[in-house]
Amino acid sequence: SPADGAVKTYRIASIPADGIGPEVIAAGLQALDALARRDGGFTFDVTEFDWGSDRFKKTGALMPADGRDQIKDFDAIFFGAVGAPDVPDHVTLWGLRLPICQGFDQYANVRPTKILPGITSPLAGVGPGDLDWVIVRENSEGEYSGNGGRTHQGMPEEVGTEVSIFTRTGVTRIMRYAFELARSRPRKFLTVVTKSNAQRFGMVMWDEIAAEVAQEFPDVTWDKMLVDAMTVRMVKDPKSLDTIVATNLHADILSDLAGALAGSLGVAPTANIDPERRYPSMFEPIHGSAFDITGKGIANPVATFWTASQMLDHLGETNASARLMRAVEKVCADGIMTPDVGGTATTQEVTDAVCEAIRAEN
Ligand code: ATP
Ligand code: MG
Repeated sequence: SPADGAVKTYRIASIPADGIGPEVIAAGLQALDALARRDGGFTFDVTEFDWGSDRFKKTGALMPADGRDQIKDFDAIFFGAVGAPDVPDHVTLWGLRLPICQGFDQYANVRPTKILPGITSPLAGVGPGDLDWVIVRENSEGEYSGNGGRTHQGMPEEVGTEVSIFTRTGVTRIMRYAFELARSRPRKFLTVVTKSNAQRFGMVMWDEIAAEVAQEFPDVTWDKMLVDAMTVRMVKDPKSLDTIVATNLHADILSDLAGALAGSLGVAPTANIDPERRYPSMFEPIHGSAFDITGKGIANPVATFWTASQMLDHLGETNASARLMRAVEKVCADGIMTPDVGGTATTQEVTDAVCEAIRAEN
Protein backbone atom coordinates (compact mmCIF):
# COMPACT_ATOMS: atom_id res chain seq x y z
CA SER A 1 0.00 0.00 0.00
CA PRO A 2 1.11 3.61 -0.47
CA ALA A 3 1.30 3.97 3.30
CA ASP A 4 4.72 2.32 3.34
CA GLY A 5 5.81 4.79 0.70
CA ALA A 6 6.54 2.30 -2.05
CA VAL A 7 4.45 3.02 -5.12
CA LYS A 8 5.44 0.54 -7.81
CA THR A 9 5.90 1.82 -11.33
CA TYR A 10 5.36 -0.62 -14.19
CA ARG A 11 7.00 0.25 -17.48
CA ILE A 12 4.66 -0.63 -20.34
CA ALA A 13 5.67 -0.65 -24.02
CA SER A 14 2.55 0.17 -26.00
CA ILE A 15 2.39 -0.82 -29.67
CA PRO A 16 -1.06 0.28 -30.92
CA ALA A 17 -0.14 -0.41 -34.60
CA ASP A 18 -2.88 -0.56 -37.24
CA GLY A 19 -6.60 0.04 -37.85
CA ILE A 20 -8.63 -0.06 -34.63
CA GLY A 21 -5.45 -0.96 -32.67
CA PRO A 22 -4.86 2.65 -31.53
CA GLU A 23 -8.55 3.05 -30.60
CA VAL A 24 -8.70 0.00 -28.35
CA ILE A 25 -5.25 0.61 -26.82
CA ALA A 26 -6.30 4.17 -25.91
CA ALA A 27 -9.36 2.67 -24.20
CA GLY A 28 -7.24 0.09 -22.38
CA LEU A 29 -4.82 2.74 -21.11
CA GLN A 30 -7.72 4.80 -19.71
CA ALA A 31 -8.92 1.77 -17.75
CA LEU A 32 -5.39 1.07 -16.46
CA ASP A 33 -5.10 4.69 -15.36
CA ALA A 34 -8.43 4.48 -13.50
CA LEU A 35 -7.24 1.30 -11.76
CA ALA A 36 -3.92 2.87 -10.73
CA ARG A 37 -5.70 5.93 -9.29
CA ARG A 38 -8.16 3.73 -7.45
CA ASP A 39 -5.48 1.44 -6.00
CA GLY A 40 -2.78 3.96 -5.20
CA GLY A 41 -0.11 1.27 -4.82
CA PHE A 42 1.11 1.23 -8.38
CA THR A 43 1.36 3.40 -11.43
CA PHE A 44 2.18 2.95 -15.12
CA ASP A 45 4.93 4.54 -17.17
CA VAL A 46 3.78 3.99 -20.76
CA THR A 47 6.06 4.43 -23.77
CA GLU A 48 4.39 4.29 -27.17
CA PHE A 49 6.13 2.78 -30.20
CA ASP A 50 4.89 3.78 -33.68
CA TRP A 51 5.53 0.36 -35.20
CA GLY A 52 3.15 -1.13 -37.77
CA SER A 53 2.03 -0.92 -41.37
CA ASP A 54 2.34 2.88 -41.76
CA ARG A 55 5.95 2.64 -40.70
CA PHE A 56 6.41 -0.21 -43.19
CA LYS A 57 5.05 1.93 -46.02
CA LYS A 58 7.43 4.78 -45.15
CA THR A 59 10.59 2.86 -44.25
CA GLY A 60 10.19 -0.72 -45.52
CA ALA A 61 10.13 -2.21 -42.02
CA LEU A 62 7.31 -2.54 -39.49
CA MET A 63 9.72 -2.19 -36.59
CA PRO A 64 13.34 -1.00 -36.39
CA ALA A 65 16.15 -3.57 -36.66
CA ASP A 66 16.96 -3.10 -32.96
CA GLY A 67 13.26 -3.00 -32.01
CA ARG A 68 13.41 -5.95 -29.64
CA ASP A 69 16.36 -4.38 -27.83
CA GLN A 70 14.34 -1.20 -27.37
CA ILE A 71 11.56 -3.01 -25.49
CA LYS A 72 13.36 -5.89 -23.80
CA ASP A 73 13.58 -4.19 -20.37
CA PHE A 74 9.91 -3.21 -20.14
CA ASP A 75 7.62 -4.99 -17.68
CA ALA A 76 5.04 -5.82 -20.36
CA ILE A 77 4.02 -5.12 -23.95
CA PHE A 78 0.50 -3.86 -24.65
CA PHE A 79 -0.25 -4.59 -28.30
CA GLY A 80 -3.15 -3.38 -30.48
CA ALA A 81 -3.57 -5.04 -33.86
CA VAL A 82 -1.42 -5.33 -36.96
CA GLY A 83 -2.48 -5.70 -40.60
CA ALA A 84 -3.48 -3.37 -43.42
CA PRO A 85 -5.45 -3.95 -46.61
CA ASP A 86 -2.49 -2.95 -48.79
CA VAL A 87 0.24 -4.91 -46.98
CA PRO A 88 0.39 -8.71 -47.39
CA ASP A 89 -0.58 -10.69 -44.25
CA HIS A 90 2.70 -12.63 -44.09
CA VAL A 91 4.65 -9.34 -44.14
CA THR A 92 2.79 -7.94 -41.16
CA LEU A 93 2.84 -11.23 -39.26
CA TRP A 94 6.54 -11.91 -39.78
CA GLY A 95 7.45 -8.22 -39.55
CA LEU A 96 6.17 -7.47 -36.04
CA ARG A 97 4.23 -10.01 -33.97
CA LEU A 98 6.28 -13.12 -34.63
CA PRO A 99 9.69 -11.49 -34.07
CA ILE A 100 8.43 -10.38 -30.66
CA CYS A 101 6.75 -13.72 -29.75
CA GLN A 102 9.67 -15.83 -30.92
CA GLY A 103 12.49 -13.48 -29.95
CA PHE A 104 11.17 -13.23 -26.41
CA ASP A 105 10.34 -16.96 -26.29
CA GLN A 106 6.73 -16.30 -25.30
CA TYR A 107 5.98 -20.00 -25.46
CA ALA A 108 2.65 -19.96 -23.60
CA ASN A 109 -0.25 -18.38 -25.43
CA VAL A 110 -3.14 -18.03 -22.99
CA ARG A 111 -6.70 -17.47 -24.16
CA PRO A 112 -9.44 -17.13 -21.56
CA THR A 113 -12.99 -17.58 -22.83
CA LYS A 114 -16.22 -17.05 -21.00
CA ILE A 115 -19.66 -15.76 -21.83
CA LEU A 116 -19.98 -12.22 -20.51
CA PRO A 117 -23.33 -11.03 -19.14
CA GLY A 118 -25.50 -9.56 -21.88
CA ILE A 119 -23.68 -11.41 -24.65
CA THR A 120 -25.50 -14.26 -26.36
CA SER A 121 -23.73 -17.51 -27.15
CA PRO A 122 -24.81 -19.27 -30.35
CA LEU A 123 -25.26 -22.35 -28.11
CA ALA A 124 -28.90 -22.45 -27.03
CA GLY A 125 -29.36 -22.34 -23.28
CA VAL A 126 -25.69 -21.62 -22.53
CA GLY A 127 -25.14 -18.43 -20.55
CA PRO A 128 -22.64 -16.84 -18.16
CA GLY A 129 -21.27 -19.48 -15.80
CA ASP A 130 -21.84 -22.35 -18.23
CA LEU A 131 -18.68 -21.72 -20.21
CA ASP A 132 -15.53 -20.54 -18.44
CA TRP A 133 -12.36 -21.85 -20.04
CA VAL A 134 -8.72 -20.99 -20.45
CA ILE A 135 -6.99 -22.45 -23.48
CA VAL A 136 -3.21 -22.74 -23.27
CA ARG A 137 -1.63 -22.88 -26.70
CA GLU A 138 1.94 -24.10 -27.22
CA ASN A 139 3.37 -21.06 -28.98
CA SER A 140 6.93 -21.96 -30.01
CA GLU A 141 7.10 -25.26 -31.93
CA GLY A 142 4.81 -28.07 -33.10
CA GLU A 143 3.01 -27.86 -36.41
CA TYR A 144 4.10 -24.23 -36.97
CA SER A 145 7.81 -24.92 -36.65
CA GLY A 146 8.32 -23.95 -40.30
CA ASN A 147 9.98 -27.22 -41.33
CA GLY A 148 9.12 -28.85 -44.62
CA GLY A 149 9.57 -28.45 -48.30
CA ARG A 150 8.30 -29.08 -51.80
CA THR A 151 9.81 -31.02 -54.66
CA HIS A 152 8.76 -31.20 -58.34
CA GLN A 153 6.68 -28.04 -57.98
CA GLY A 154 3.70 -28.01 -60.33
CA MET A 155 4.48 -31.48 -61.72
CA PRO A 156 2.26 -34.55 -61.25
CA GLU A 157 4.83 -36.08 -58.90
CA GLU A 158 4.94 -33.00 -56.65
CA VAL A 159 5.42 -33.66 -52.93
CA GLY A 160 4.90 -31.19 -50.10
CA THR A 161 5.88 -31.86 -46.50
CA GLU A 162 4.96 -29.91 -43.38
CA VAL A 163 6.91 -31.34 -40.47
CA SER A 164 5.80 -30.87 -36.86
CA ILE A 165 8.58 -30.62 -34.31
CA PHE A 166 7.85 -31.57 -30.71
CA THR A 167 10.72 -31.44 -28.23
CA ARG A 168 10.74 -32.90 -24.72
CA THR A 169 11.79 -29.48 -23.41
CA GLY A 170 9.05 -27.70 -25.33
CA VAL A 171 6.26 -30.08 -24.35
CA THR A 172 7.35 -30.34 -20.71
CA ARG A 173 7.46 -26.58 -20.21
CA ILE A 174 4.01 -25.94 -21.72
CA MET A 175 2.56 -28.86 -19.75
CA ARG A 176 3.98 -27.46 -16.49
CA TYR A 177 2.57 -24.04 -17.31
CA ALA A 178 -0.87 -25.54 -18.00
CA PHE A 179 -0.91 -27.62 -14.80
CA GLU A 180 0.16 -24.55 -12.77
CA LEU A 181 -2.62 -22.49 -14.35
CA ALA A 182 -5.20 -25.24 -13.75
CA ARG A 183 -4.06 -25.37 -10.10
CA SER A 184 -4.64 -21.63 -9.73
CA ARG A 185 -8.28 -21.89 -10.81
CA PRO A 186 -11.10 -23.01 -8.51
CA ARG A 187 -11.83 -26.30 -10.27
CA LYS A 188 -8.17 -27.41 -10.58
CA PHE A 189 -9.02 -29.35 -13.70
CA LEU A 190 -7.00 -29.71 -16.92
CA THR A 191 -7.85 -31.31 -20.25
CA VAL A 192 -4.88 -32.35 -22.40
CA VAL A 193 -5.70 -32.43 -26.12
CA THR A 194 -3.79 -34.50 -28.70
CA LYS A 195 -4.40 -36.70 -31.73
CA SER A 196 -2.44 -39.66 -30.48
CA ASN A 197 -4.62 -42.32 -32.05
CA ALA A 198 -3.65 -41.30 -35.59
CA GLN A 199 -0.29 -39.61 -34.95
CA ARG A 200 1.87 -42.12 -33.19
CA PHE A 201 5.09 -40.23 -32.44
CA GLY A 202 5.03 -36.62 -31.29
CA MET A 203 1.45 -36.93 -30.09
CA VAL A 204 2.13 -40.06 -28.06
CA MET A 205 5.08 -38.21 -26.58
CA TRP A 206 2.66 -35.40 -25.56
CA ASP A 207 0.45 -37.91 -23.75
CA GLU A 208 3.43 -39.48 -21.98
CA ILE A 209 4.86 -36.14 -20.87
CA ALA A 210 1.41 -35.06 -19.65
CA ALA A 211 1.27 -38.14 -17.43
CA GLU A 212 4.79 -37.45 -16.12
CA VAL A 213 4.13 -33.79 -15.33
CA ALA A 214 0.80 -34.72 -13.73
CA GLN A 215 2.80 -36.52 -11.01
CA GLU A 216 4.08 -33.10 -9.88
CA PHE A 217 0.50 -31.85 -9.49
CA PRO A 218 -1.39 -34.42 -7.40
CA ASP A 219 -4.00 -31.79 -6.52
CA VAL A 220 -4.93 -31.20 -10.17
CA THR A 221 -7.43 -33.53 -11.86
CA TRP A 222 -6.84 -34.05 -15.55
CA ASP A 223 -8.14 -35.94 -18.53
CA LYS A 224 -7.16 -36.51 -22.15
CA MET A 225 -9.12 -35.80 -25.31
CA LEU A 226 -8.56 -36.39 -28.99
CA VAL A 227 -8.92 -33.07 -30.76
CA ASP A 228 -11.85 -34.19 -32.95
CA ALA A 229 -13.85 -35.41 -29.95
CA MET A 230 -12.85 -32.22 -28.16
CA THR A 231 -14.72 -30.03 -30.67
CA VAL A 232 -17.86 -32.04 -29.95
CA ARG A 233 -17.41 -31.77 -26.18
CA MET A 234 -16.91 -28.01 -26.39
CA VAL A 235 -20.26 -27.66 -28.14
CA LYS A 236 -22.25 -30.34 -26.29
CA ASP A 237 -20.88 -30.14 -22.78
CA PRO A 238 -19.12 -26.80 -22.25
CA LYS A 239 -19.61 -26.97 -18.48
CA SER A 240 -17.39 -30.05 -18.27
CA LEU A 241 -14.27 -28.12 -19.31
CA ASP A 242 -12.03 -25.65 -17.49
CA THR A 243 -8.33 -25.37 -18.38
CA ILE A 244 -7.26 -26.82 -21.73
CA VAL A 245 -3.77 -27.39 -23.17
CA ALA A 246 -3.11 -28.20 -26.81
CA THR A 247 -0.51 -27.93 -29.55
CA ASN A 248 0.09 -24.84 -31.63
CA LEU A 249 -2.26 -25.97 -34.45
CA HIS A 250 -4.93 -27.67 -32.34
CA ALA A 251 -5.20 -24.76 -29.92
CA ASP A 252 -5.31 -22.29 -32.80
CA ILE A 253 -8.42 -24.02 -34.12
CA LEU A 254 -10.01 -24.76 -30.73
CA SER A 255 -9.61 -21.16 -29.59
CA ASP A 256 -11.41 -19.85 -32.69
CA LEU A 257 -14.25 -22.24 -31.89
CA ALA A 258 -14.16 -21.10 -28.26
CA GLY A 259 -14.31 -17.45 -29.34
CA ALA A 260 -17.31 -18.11 -31.56
CA LEU A 261 -19.11 -19.99 -28.76
CA ALA A 262 -18.50 -17.04 -26.43
CA GLY A 263 -20.29 -14.71 -28.82
CA SER A 264 -17.85 -12.24 -30.41
CA LEU A 265 -14.35 -11.60 -31.66
CA GLY A 266 -14.51 -8.17 -30.07
CA VAL A 267 -14.34 -9.62 -26.56
CA ALA A 268 -11.58 -12.27 -26.93
CA PRO A 269 -8.18 -11.55 -25.37
CA THR A 270 -4.82 -13.31 -25.52
CA ALA A 271 -1.54 -13.23 -23.64
CA ASN A 272 1.80 -14.32 -25.03
CA ILE A 273 3.73 -15.28 -21.93
CA ASP A 274 7.34 -15.99 -21.13
CA PRO A 275 6.66 -17.85 -17.89
CA GLU A 276 10.33 -17.68 -16.93
CA ARG A 277 10.20 -13.88 -17.10
CA ARG A 278 13.46 -13.51 -18.99
CA TYR A 279 11.68 -11.08 -21.30
CA PRO A 280 8.50 -9.00 -21.28
CA SER A 281 5.27 -10.81 -22.12
CA MET A 282 2.82 -9.41 -24.66
CA PHE A 283 -0.91 -8.77 -24.17
CA GLU A 284 -3.33 -8.15 -27.04
CA PRO A 285 -6.90 -8.54 -28.23
CA ILE A 286 -7.33 -11.54 -30.56
CA HIS A 287 -9.08 -9.51 -33.24
CA GLY A 288 -7.26 -7.87 -36.14
CA SER A 289 -7.09 -4.31 -37.38
CA ALA A 290 -10.72 -4.28 -38.69
CA PHE A 291 -10.34 -1.46 -41.22
CA ASP A 292 -14.07 -1.66 -42.01
CA ILE A 293 -14.83 0.08 -38.71
CA THR A 294 -11.59 2.03 -38.17
CA GLY A 295 -12.15 5.68 -37.27
CA LYS A 296 -15.86 5.21 -36.58
CA GLY A 297 -15.41 5.12 -32.81
CA ILE A 298 -17.31 1.85 -32.43
CA ALA A 299 -14.51 -0.70 -31.90
CA ASN A 300 -15.33 -2.99 -29.00
CA PRO A 301 -12.73 -2.33 -26.28
CA VAL A 302 -13.70 -5.33 -24.12
CA ALA A 303 -11.04 -7.71 -25.53
CA THR A 304 -8.43 -5.07 -24.74
CA PHE A 305 -9.75 -4.54 -21.19
CA TRP A 306 -9.63 -8.29 -20.68
CA THR A 307 -6.05 -8.58 -21.94
CA ALA A 308 -5.15 -5.62 -19.70
CA SER A 309 -6.54 -7.71 -16.85
CA GLN A 310 -4.27 -10.60 -17.94
CA MET A 311 -1.37 -8.13 -17.90
CA LEU A 312 -2.21 -7.04 -14.36
CA ASP A 313 -2.28 -10.68 -13.26
CA HIS A 314 1.13 -11.21 -14.82
CA LEU A 315 2.48 -8.14 -13.00
CA GLY A 316 1.13 -9.53 -9.71
CA GLU A 317 -1.66 -6.94 -9.39
CA THR A 318 -4.36 -9.57 -9.02
CA ASN A 319 -6.78 -7.33 -7.08
CA ALA A 320 -6.74 -4.70 -9.82
CA SER A 321 -7.10 -7.43 -12.43
CA ALA A 322 -10.22 -8.81 -10.76
CA ARG A 323 -11.60 -5.29 -10.24
CA LEU A 324 -11.23 -4.55 -13.95
CA MET A 325 -13.10 -7.73 -14.93
CA ARG A 326 -15.89 -6.98 -12.45
CA ALA A 327 -16.23 -3.52 -13.99
CA VAL A 328 -16.35 -4.95 -17.52
CA GLU A 329 -18.98 -7.53 -16.52
CA LYS A 330 -21.09 -4.87 -14.81
CA VAL A 331 -20.99 -2.60 -17.87
CA CYS A 332 -21.90 -5.51 -20.18
CA ALA A 333 -24.74 -6.51 -17.84
CA ASP A 334 -25.98 -2.89 -17.94
CA GLY A 335 -26.18 -3.22 -21.72
CA ILE A 336 -23.52 -0.59 -22.43
CA MET A 337 -22.03 -2.39 -25.42
CA THR A 338 -20.77 -1.63 -28.93
CA PRO A 339 -22.78 -2.58 -32.07
CA ASP A 340 -20.80 -5.80 -32.77
CA VAL A 341 -22.43 -7.33 -29.68
CA GLY A 342 -25.84 -5.79 -30.23
CA GLY A 343 -25.43 -2.49 -28.39
CA THR A 344 -25.47 1.14 -29.47
CA ALA A 345 -22.61 2.54 -27.38
CA THR A 346 -19.36 3.97 -28.73
CA THR A 347 -15.88 2.83 -27.71
CA GLN A 348 -15.56 5.92 -25.51
CA GLU A 349 -18.96 5.41 -23.84
CA VAL A 350 -18.05 1.83 -22.92
CA THR A 351 -14.65 3.01 -21.69
CA ASP A 352 -16.15 5.82 -19.59
CA ALA A 353 -18.63 3.36 -18.07
CA VAL A 354 -15.85 0.90 -17.19
CA CYS A 355 -13.71 3.67 -15.63
CA GLU A 356 -16.73 4.90 -13.66
CA ALA A 357 -17.45 1.36 -12.43
CA ILE A 358 -13.81 1.08 -11.31
CA ARG A 359 -14.10 4.36 -9.39
CA ALA A 360 -17.53 3.64 -7.91
CA GLU A 361 -17.01 0.06 -6.72
CA ASN A 362 -17.08 -0.43 -2.95
P1 ATP B 1 -6.89 -9.34 -39.69
O1 ATP B 1 -6.59 -9.25 -41.12
O2 ATP B 1 -5.75 -8.93 -38.81
O3 ATP B 1 -7.54 -10.61 -39.26
P2 ATP B 1 -9.36 -8.01 -40.01
O4 ATP B 1 -9.44 -6.59 -40.46
O5 ATP B 1 -9.73 -9.11 -40.91
O6 ATP B 1 -7.95 -8.18 -39.39
P3 ATP B 1 -10.64 -9.29 -37.81
O7 ATP B 1 -10.12 -9.04 -36.50
O8 ATP B 1 -10.33 -10.57 -38.47
O9 ATP B 1 -10.29 -8.06 -38.73
O10 ATP B 1 -12.21 -9.09 -37.66
C1 ATP B 1 -13.15 -9.40 -38.63
C2 ATP B 1 -14.30 -8.43 -38.48
O11 ATP B 1 -14.88 -8.51 -37.17
C3 ATP B 1 -13.86 -6.99 -38.61
O12 ATP B 1 -13.82 -6.61 -39.95
C4 ATP B 1 -14.87 -6.24 -37.79
O13 ATP B 1 -16.01 -5.95 -38.54
C5 ATP B 1 -15.21 -7.22 -36.68
N1 ATP B 1 -14.43 -6.92 -35.49
C6 ATP B 1 -13.23 -7.40 -35.12
N2 ATP B 1 -12.80 -6.89 -33.98
C7 ATP B 1 -13.74 -6.02 -33.57
C8 ATP B 1 -13.88 -5.15 -32.44
N3 ATP B 1 -12.95 -5.03 -31.47
N4 ATP B 1 -15.00 -4.40 -32.37
C9 ATP B 1 -15.95 -4.48 -33.30
N5 ATP B 1 -15.88 -5.27 -34.38
C10 ATP B 1 -14.79 -6.04 -34.53
MG1 MG C 1 -9.41 -11.34 -40.28
